[in-house]
Amino acid sequence: MQATTMAIEPTLAILSGKGGTGKTLLSVNLASVAKEATYIDCDVEEPNGNLFFNPTQEFGKLVTVKKPVVDEALCDGCHKCVDFCAFNALALIGKRLMIFDEICHSCGGCIHVCPQKALSEQDRAVGEMSIGRSDSVRSISGSMNIGESSGVPIIEELLKHKGEDLTIIDAPPGSSCLVTESVRLADFCILIAEPTTFGAHNLAMVHELVSLLGKPYAVVLNKVMEGKNPAEEFCIKNNIPIIGRIPFDKKLGSLNSVGKIASREEKHYRELFASILSKALAKVNP
Ligand code: SF4
Ligand code: SF4
Repeated sequence: MQATTMAIEPTLAILSGKGGTGKTLLSVNLASVAKEATYIDCDVEEPNGNLFFNPTQEFGKLVTVKKPVVDEALCDGCHKCVDFCAFNALALIGKRLMIFDEICHSCGGCIHVCPQKALSEQDRAVGEMSIGRSDSVRSISGSMNIGESSGVPIIEELLKHKGEDLTIIDAPPGSSCLVTESVRLADFCILIAEPTTFGAHNLAMVHELVSLLGKPYAVVLNKVMEGKNPAEEFCIKNNIPIIGRIPFDKKLGSLNSVGKIASREEKHYRELFASILSKALAKVNP
């Protein structure tokens, strides 16, 4: 008898040029209309996907990174580690070594160059992550501690828990290194944009990023109403496929503002988001 192998489902990343564009609205609804899905909230500076899913907690842990610590009894103030650190995370005040944890990138180099073996690594928490379940959605979320310079280690940890089912990644807004890390495993990117000149400008920014990363992509237009839509004009001018139009709709806005997932509330929203999901999946597997 032949063993059956489960196919790995695609990973879709949802991006926007700025916060408040409808990225989480689209992400949670796409995950909710799938038969089974994993939702990963990579917006670790402002995670709000779980406000919608309100999942039952299954797993949680601190996210730690390695940071150097100095044994002052061994350090002779030779300056080699300070000269080595490309991030200026080390300084010698007289013969006393100062380590600025928040800007240290945990490369470990200073430990290797120290001739006195005065430096060693210690785990330090930079945030936390959790996994929970809400109906057919497994929700993975993380948050960064206040004052940390980078959420990349937390995003790396979240992505380690990605399964083989359909995965929806709610990326951080903008086009920073956090976004690049969030879309690393994505098979397809969906860019969401508002119908304003500023919306078109933000769309151009994320469009440039996904083009540079060589990721296939399409656009969903949000808050669509009658009249001029600069974001749509940008898509037409640049030959970018539009796979969905979410109308400007007070009911949808009010459901969203109280943390309700529209596609779980009303059939026509379910059909709207199911249609967007099916068009995105058709682009991944034409
Ligand atoms: S681990 Fe790397 S980044 Fe951090 S202080 Fe040492 S050399 Fe600098
Ligand atoms: S390289 Fe080692 S001994 Fe030299 S200043 Fe740095 S910690 Fe001290």
